[in-house]
Formats: sequence, structure tokens, C-alpha cells
Amino acid sequence: SQGSDGSQDGGPSAGSGSGASHMIVAVRIRPLSKEELAAGKRSCCEVINGNTVVITKAAASGVYLQSQQAKVNEYAFDCAFGPDATQSQVYEATAKPYIEDLLSGINVTVFAYGATGAGKTHTMGSSGTTCGSGGSSSGSGGGGGGDEAAAASGIMPQSLVDVFRGVEARRRAGSGARAETWSVRVSYLEVYNEQILDLLEPGGCLQVCEDKARGVVKVAGLAERRVASCDEVLRLLRAGNANRKTEATGANAVSSRSHAVLQVSVTRAHHDDCGNDVVRESKLSLIDLAGSERASATNNTGALLRQGASINKSLLSLANCINTLAQNAARASGGGGGSGGAARAPANVKYRDSKLTRLLKTSLEGRCRVVMIANLNPSHHTYDDSHNTLHYANRAKDIKVRAALSALS
Ligand code: ADP
Ligand code: MG
Repeated sequence: SQGSDGSQDGGPSAGSGSGASHMIVAVRIRPLSKEELAAGKRSCCEVINGNTVVITKAAASGVYLQSQQAKVNEYAFDCAFGPDATQSQVYEATAKPYIEDLLSGINVTVFAYGATGAGKTHTMGSSGTTCGSGGSSSGSGGGGGGDEAAAASGIMPQSLVDVFRGVEARRRAGSGARAETWSVRVSYLEVYNEQILDLLEPGGCLQVCEDKARGVVKVAGLAERRVASCDEVLRLLRAGNANRKTEATGANAVSSRSHAVLQVSVTRAHHDDCGNDVVRESKLSLIDLAGSERASATNNTGALLRQGASINKSLLSLANCINTLAQNAARASGGGGGSGGAARAPANVKYRDSKLTRLLKTSLEGRCRVVMIANLNPSHHTYDDSHNTLHYANRAKDIKVRAALSALS
């Protein structure tokens, strides 16, 4: 048992068996653009009661059928954001509460899920556009500046501002006898066609390897940069984005066919009471997933179809892993569950099924925090994609609800 440092949850990922994972499932509906409105596109989904999405299947013509023929579905989530929601509102209700956990040694993962054009990149802020540099750049340097700009620009910049703020506060508080040293490092990669590519130092494709002794997953040879400010990270992000593989598809000319993964490692090192070095590391994984639209919907052929299939493979196995984890957590906390059976052994989580899940293994198991933000394009033209996205998100949420219920029983 470690000399405790005041982190409420005890030592970092020591007992990997305790499935105390927490998950937030949120949905965000983007506004229709002027062009879309001018082209006669109509919204087929809306938020009601703060956390519920109503989706209505329109007639083929796009004209809503009133009465019986209109098919209406409702899904409730932890939170649902309509077209007027601000970047700050989304961040504050999703990732922000977990930044403190990250700083106490817990892995946190945030996914943006949804079809191409649904608003994933906007929600994550992964284009790296603003963090203080936008508009009134009154002397660029100096950490701390640009927080307002960060707030306007998505989850990545906003999380980073809070990570650096938290690290700063702990540095000040921990600068006494125990002399804590904090460092923040980032890596940025994409999973493209089931290959892992370094976006900071482009080269060949990289392999995931598991350091079993330390219980961590690594990407061999992946560049990691030590960083000191949000602006610095966003510069890396922009440089990395320039190295991304993007390819026009039938679905969208700028469709991203790859999963972009920004990992922020926070490390605290100090001497314990016996003079031993104690190093603790936790990771914030911020992931702009590839478009979830089905390959078949884009009329892809040949090489592009294969990429589509790989994308679906990673997304599918991500969903499977999350489901299995949640079921295992339900079994563990329910002591066999309300349905009276003997406690079953936890099911195997199939991380090895895809590159994305192999990569995220240690960010998804044990004590971790997961945020899934499902993004919707409201247009009635993309009803099927939106409906599929709601299904995917609802599945994650359903399992979680069951976990919570069986924990109560
Ligand atoms: P994706 O990454 O899922 O393909 P994007 O984030 O690129 O989608 O969004 C598609 C378009 O919609 C972009 O032009 C983006 O600026 C715009 N957009 C997305 N979400 C919002 C939002 N909440 N408010 C305003 N515009 C948005
Ligand atoms: Mg995008």
C-alpha cells in the first residue's frame, strides 16, 4: 500500500479488478447551416426535457407526415445538447468533471462519435484552431492567456486549459518537503485502415505493445512531446492534422476516414516517506472518431471500401468492449445480479479485435472515466445515420443503467 497522497480513490489502478468505471453518454445535435436551410433541409431531431432526443422519420420527400405514418423515437441520455448549446456548456457537462480524476491518477477517455459532418471535430476542437491565438493576440506567450478563446473552441482546448491549471495548482501545493514533480506530455496519432500512424513524427506504421509488468499499453516508437501550455499542444495538433490521411469519399469531400487520438499523459513523481521514488501516470485520451456512416452508404469500392470496413471494425469492437466492460461491472457490483444466478466470471473483453481497442485497453479497464459524445446532423436527409448513432449511444447507456440498477439491488 502506497503512502497516500490524499487522492480519495487510493493507489493508481492497483486493483484492476474493481470495475469502478464511470461513463457519461451525451448527445449533441448541431445546427443546420445556412446553406442546408437554403437547400430545404429540415431538422428531424430535437432535444426535449434537457436530456432526451426525439427523432422523427420524414417521408421520402422530406415533408413530415403528421399522424400515424410519422415514425417517432425517443432516447434519453445523461445529457443532450441542442443546436444552441455552447462549447462551454458541452465541456462543463461532460469532460470537465473528470479532469480532477485525471490529476489524481485515473485514466479518462473522451470519444466523439457520429457520421461525417455531424460535428465531431467541432465538438472536440481537434482542428486546433483556437487557444488564445484567435483575434486579439496580445503577446502570444505566457500560459494562462486565451482561456476564453479555448472555451469557444471545443473539448480538447478546454480540457488542456484545466489540466495545466490543475497541474500548476498542485505544483505550488506540492513544492514542500515531498517535492513533487509534475510533467505533461502529448502524443498524437491516427488509426487509419487498421494502421497506427504517428502524426507528430510521420513515418511507418507503429505497433501496440503491452508492458505487462507496469500494466500499460504503449505504441512502440510513438513520439511524445513534453508540453507546458495549451497553446503549445494546439500547435502540435495543427501540425499533426496536416499529416492526417484524408480522402474524398462519396459521403463527404473532406470526410476523415481515420480515428484521431490525442493522448495527454500527466505524470507526478515524488519521494515517499521512505525516500523511494514514486511515479504515477494517468492519461487523458481525446478521440475524434472516424465517420460512423456505413461503407455501403458511400458507394465505395476497392481500397476505399476496405478502409470503410476497417473503420467499422474499430468502431464495432469499441462498442463491444464498452458493453462487455459495463456488463462485467454490473456483475461485480451486483454480487451475482438481481436475477438470482450465481456470480458469473467476468467476460473477456476483446481488446485485441481492433487497433483502436488495443490502444485504449488501459484507458478503458480498471478505474477509468469514459465520456461518449454522440454527434448528430439534424437534417432529415441523414435520418438513417442519426438513427444509427442514437442506437449506438443508447446501447452504451442501456448497459450502464443496468449496471447502476444492479448495484442498487
Ligand atoms: P465531423 O467532424 O463530424 O465530420 P464537423 O465537426 O467537421 O463534423 O462539422 C461539420 C460542419 O458543421 C462544420 O462546418 C462545422 O463547423 C459545423 N458544425 C458542427 N457542429 C457545430 C455546432 N455545434 N455549431 C455550429 N456549427 C457546427
Ligand atoms: Mg471531423
